[in-house]
Amino acid sequence: MAEPTFRAPKGTRDILPPDSGRLRALIDEFAAAAGLRGFGEVVSPMFEDLGVFKRLGEETDVVTKEMFDFLDKGDPPQHLALRPELTASICRAYAEHRPVPPWKIWYEGPQFRYEQPQAGRYRQFTQVGVEVLGADDPQVDVDVISLGWDFYRTLGLRQVELVINSMGDASCRPQYMAALTDHLVGHRSDLSPQSQVTLDRNPLRILDSKRDEDQAVIAAAPSMVDYLNEECSVHFEEVRAGLDALGIPYSMSPRLVRGFDYYTKTVFEFVGDALGGSQNAVGGGGRYDRLVEDLGGPPTAGIGFALGVDRILLACDAEGVFPGPATAVSVFVVDVTGGGHALDVCTRLREAGIGADRAYGGRSMKAQMKVADRSGAPFAAIIGEDEVAAGEVTLRDLRGEAGQRRVALDDLVRDVRALTTN
Ligand code: AMP
Repeated sequence: MAEPTFRAPKGTRDILPPDSGRLRALIDEFAAAAGLRGFGEVVSPMFEDLGVFKRLGEETDVVTKEMFDFLDKGDPPQHLALRPELTASICRAYAEHRPVPPWKIWYEGPQFRYEQPQAGRYRQFTQVGVEVLGADDPQVDVDVISLGWDFYRTLGLRQVELVINSMGDASCRPQYMAALTDHLVGHRSDLSPQSQVTLDRNPLRILDSKRDEDQAVIAAAPSMVDYLNEECSVHFEEVRAGLDALGIPYSMSPRLVRGFDYYTKTVFEFVGDALGGSQNAVGGGGRYDRLVEDLGGPPTAGIGFALGVDRILLACDAEGVFPGPATAVSVFVVDVTGGGHALDVCTRLREAGIGADRAYGGRSMKAQMKVADRSGAPFAAIIGEDEVAAGEVTLRDLRGEAGQRRVALDDLVRDVRALTTN
């Protein structure tokens, strides 16, 4: 094949059938799970004022290095950015529309981050997620985490682990930050050059570092849970008790701080053990009790998660679960009389709600049967001169043992239904 003139931009992919069908099926599964728990869908813009995303934390990688931002053509121009995630947009929407709390919403769609692409890491990737705004109750944390947990189970994934931590709140975090900073400054020379720079700007972000040189210093760092005030400590205990009551296993990770600055109290991550390497987080989230206020809204508690659809599908491949849906086409119509009858037969089937497809171009029986096989349809309806003369079609089983038989055109819908509902 000749080199194409253009390719999809670096870090992006065309998702073609049948993979796109699998992606759609996964999103539909998520929509059903969220709907069952009373979440409604929000469809929000793919770009926002850059200021919305700056609230994710001025020193986070997502804001400093990974934003796809641009000036629009206005006078004066507005500084916009493609969304790198959806929590900030949802909080902006909450501040703008002031819905009645608790506001339980779900979303799906592409996110954009200018990252170094590698397996499981793209510049455009799809997330599904939920947010609950206006409720501080630890039961909400349990509900949200269990939705994520149950969703992976529904897909058939068994090698996903839940890791949790608490980030405290504005009254206990400063003491922890002081202790963490002391520790990191004391070991400055043992840190990687990049983390030495980060240390002066945002010491917490060093805990996100995956660099080997940083790991010993990180392992010896103080833990946030040892600094929690009474309220945060009780909140975290109740979250854990709720997970225990549901029988959801988890491990505690004192270093789990997640990549954004907005988290308070509960944070959690879902790790896909079947995915090797560092891109093994298949989802994560946490509580953010300040973000709506930061975006100009009333003080509002919030919690949510985002799950990485592309990575979940890689995890499904690795565990051999959640195959793509079967084709919606039940009958492939092969017409060797020129093609006019195929149109009639397809129309009859489709009007009865039976998926039907056909070949074009008046090709030979052999060529059309090849297309029928490739289509994945379980049955072929073959039309030759004999069949036309008798007002019949030959119905052939392409997958099972049923062989073939002639059926009257007027009975075709009934017969296909009988065969496909068995
Ligand atoms: P985050 O919004 O960073 O908390 O990410 C939530 C989930 O989205 C992660 O656990 C990943 O599964 C997925 N994700 C984040 N960034 C990427 C990316 N660049 N490519 C693919 N998936 C991603």
